[in-house]
Amino acid sequence: MSKIARRQFIQLSAVAAAGCLVHPGREAQAQDLPQLAEDDPMAQAMKYTHDASTVDPSTRANPAADQNCANCALIQGNDGDEWRPCQIFPGKAVAAAGWCSVWAPKS
Ligand code: SF4
Repeated sequence: MSKIARRQFIQLSAVAAAGCLVHPGREAQAQDLPQLAEDDPMAQAMKYTHDASTVDPSTRANPAADQNCANCALIQGNDGDEWRPCQIFPGKAVAAAGWCSVWAPKS
């Protein structure tokens, strides 16, 4: 490795390390994330939909009547946001009005 290349490598490494220190543990923000597609294989496996009102309540394993992503224990991000991170779909944002078969009540 030439001296210049080594110097650039060290500088880039320092910048990357500084970036980690500036945002330690930074939670993903929904605006940073692509929206989960209903035809995503994982979404289909979990019966995810953008609109919870389209789900027949009788098909739900949990008897709670009013279920959507906004009132699910696994939702993350900020109340009121239309799209939010979810623990079940890392790296994607789900619709606050959505639903999937993993829905769980907040305690
Ligand atoms: Fe929505 Fe909860 Fe399913 Fe995530 S786990 S998609 S927040 S219902």
